[in-house]
Amino acid sequence: MQLIEKAPAKLNLSLDALYQHPDGEHEWQMVMTSIDLADYVQITAQKSANIVVKTTSGFIPEDQRNLAYQAAKLLQQRFKIKTGALIEIEKHIPVAAGMGGGSSDAAAVLRGLNRLWQLGLSKAELAKIGLQIDSDVPYCVYSETALVTGKGDQIQPLGPLPNLWLVVVKPAISVSTPRILRALNCDQIETRPNTAQLVQAIAAQDTDRLVAGMNNVLAPITSARYPQIEHLIERLETFGADIAQMSGSGPTVFAVCRQLSKAQRVYNSISGFCKEVYLVQPLK
Ligand code: ATP
Repeated sequence: MQLIEKAPAKLNLSLDALYQHPDGEHEWQMVMTSIDLADYVQITAQKSANIVVKTTSGFIPEDQRNLAYQAAKLLQQRFKIKTGALIEIEKHIPVAAGMGGGSSDAAAVLRGLNRLWQLGLSKAELAKIGLQIDSDVPYCVYSETALVTGKGDQIQPLGPLPNLWLVVVKPAISVSTPRILRALNCDQIETRPNTAQLVQAIAAQDTDRLVAGMNNVLAPITSARYPQIEHLIERLETFGADIAQMSGSGPTVFAVCRQLSKAQRVYNSISGFCKEVYLVQPLK
């Protein structure tokens, strides 16, 4: 038996860290959305107990360091499954970009094996298991616009965003998320997103209020190390974006545009400076 799961990239419309738990983990408050840029994860049942991961990217490990492998192993062990799986990942999401590519692959494996092995687990149950892999996996199990709180494990779907276009730009630098998080001090954050306003704006389909409430508290930390991120944000806004913001711990930056014509102008203008540029929409 074989199936394919789509693993969409995520973007942070907002990212806030309220405090640090005694175990060092952060209490997050984020509004996330998923976009029509995705990896495709094909899972084929195997008679032997082996979990084998193959990817089309030469840059990511295929052994136990792969988050998709970890997801399969967790489910296999937890539910004492005697058979295995061949997991083939067609990568399209840039790696180490702040778009949750590895987490989304892991979440796709959780959803796919839940079907293949007929485990009957709910999204909430899969999300709980996924938290053991990475704090973005619970959100990626849902992959729909949501308010994400706790250590990344509390997911509240918010319904679709108002109609808008996104120009996603991945600068040619790699950012280590753990390094950025080590520099985060919740007591020294100067500007935070207005999460309540974002949630209300989505319910009211009000793009003006949505844009006004956006922010990412990790942006000043990543930008201090890589000033080109701040320059990119300024450039996207000069080209006509309603707002431009970094996603996750970076370096990906995305521009929000109300109109397709404006998004196309931003896309064409920035394509001259960066190689990895995508014109996409949020998933409905
Ligand atoms: P996040 O936004 O969740 O911090 P990211 O988009 O910054 O994630 P990923 O693309 O998930 O980063 O990659 C982060 C690291 O995870 C890379 O160093 C990569 O080698 C490793 N990794 C493990 N499994 C995968 C996978 N299936 N796809 C991509 N990267 C993976």
